[in-house]
Amino acid sequence: MKDLSSLTLSELQQYISSLEEPAYRAKQLYGWIRKGVGFEDMSNVPKKLIEKVENNGGYVRTAKINKRFESKDGTIKYLMELFDGELIESVVMKYKHGNTICISTEAGCAMGCAFCASTLGGLKRRLFPSEMLSQVAQAQKDINDRIDGIVLMGIGEPLDNYDNVIKFLRIVGSEDSFNIGYRHISLSTCGLVDRIYDLAKEDLPITLSISLHASSDEKRSAMMPINRKWNIEQLLTACSDYFKTTGRRISFEYSLASGENDSTNDAHNLINTLKKYCKGMPLHVNLIPINATGRGFAPPDKDNIYVFASILNNAHITATVRRTLGSDINASCGQLRAGEKK
Ligand code: SAH
Repeated sequence: MKDLSSLTLSELQQYISSLEEPAYRAKQLYGWIRKGVGFEDMSNVPKKLIEKVENNGGYVRTAKINKRFESKDGTIKYLMELFDGELIESVVMKYKHGNTICISTEAGCAMGCAFCASTLGGLKRRLFPSEMLSQVAQAQKDINDRIDGIVLMGIGEPLDNYDNVIKFLRIVGSEDSFNIGYRHISLSTCGLVDRIYDLAKEDLPITLSISLHASSDEKRSAMMPINRKWNIEQLLTACSDYFKTTGRRISFEYSLASGENDSTNDAHNLINTLKKYCKGMPLHVNLIPINATGRGFAPPDKDNIYVFASILNNAHITATVRRTLGSDINASCGQLRAGEKK
């Protein structure tokens, strides 16, 4: 059995030549696969070739759009169904500088963050490269426009599905495929420290985002169980290594929850922690008002968020407050899938 849609062009060419078919057929197949088209609709590929491929156990996997929600601000959220019925979510955000898609990397999540809807129900399975590529293909088809950027911030922990995510990144950025610039791709992690060291060596000039959310181990461990395996010192040391190896700036995500991590003390502690472990690194914190997902966390008042941001900015740590897009369609990850499961 071979998932042709998870292959690079050169792997597909090898496969096609192993069937003693001409090399240009591989390019044709590859083109269709990247457009999200199944065997039945590959109009210029002979039926005989497809039969041969299928008799050799070859297949293509496409995610299907199961539900689609469009926000007043133009954000589109998709519930996509995989070949085995698993459901994932993808979101397309339209910015002046282009279209960005937020994709899922796993069906469910094993990380157990206390505020996150994606982890309710645990991890069902990891996605194949084809299933990540297919989210991009389906969205491009649906909006009839190009996707210019990708954030790996949907359901799942990308570094928990490391090999498949790396393969996805290599294919999606290649010229013969979606040709999306690595500088327009961000990968977000809750902090799998061993994998951050691995990622630094991949020579992929993507942006790494770290879901930090707290600046003391006590608070972070209460919000994010992964912190009991790798604490803040270990995480930020890995970030510092990542910056030294790649020269790429890291973005820290900090979801503000009222009464949990949003006090002025928390802000000062965050400054001290970042400055202690990330010497010589440009520091950028993305503040996100936490999305109430019925798990006991509530966003702070707007004023509090701006006070928190100004404390960081005064200490020369760039803090931005993330604009919430698509809140009228539950666009933040995990909510739709969790709702469907009930
Ligand atoms: N597993 C990865 C990527 C997926 S989540 C990670 O942890 O980084 C994308 C971001 O949304 C993460 O920063 C995550 O912590 C945050 N997030 C999850 N649930 C949230 C909520 N209810 N409100 C605000 N941010 C949330």
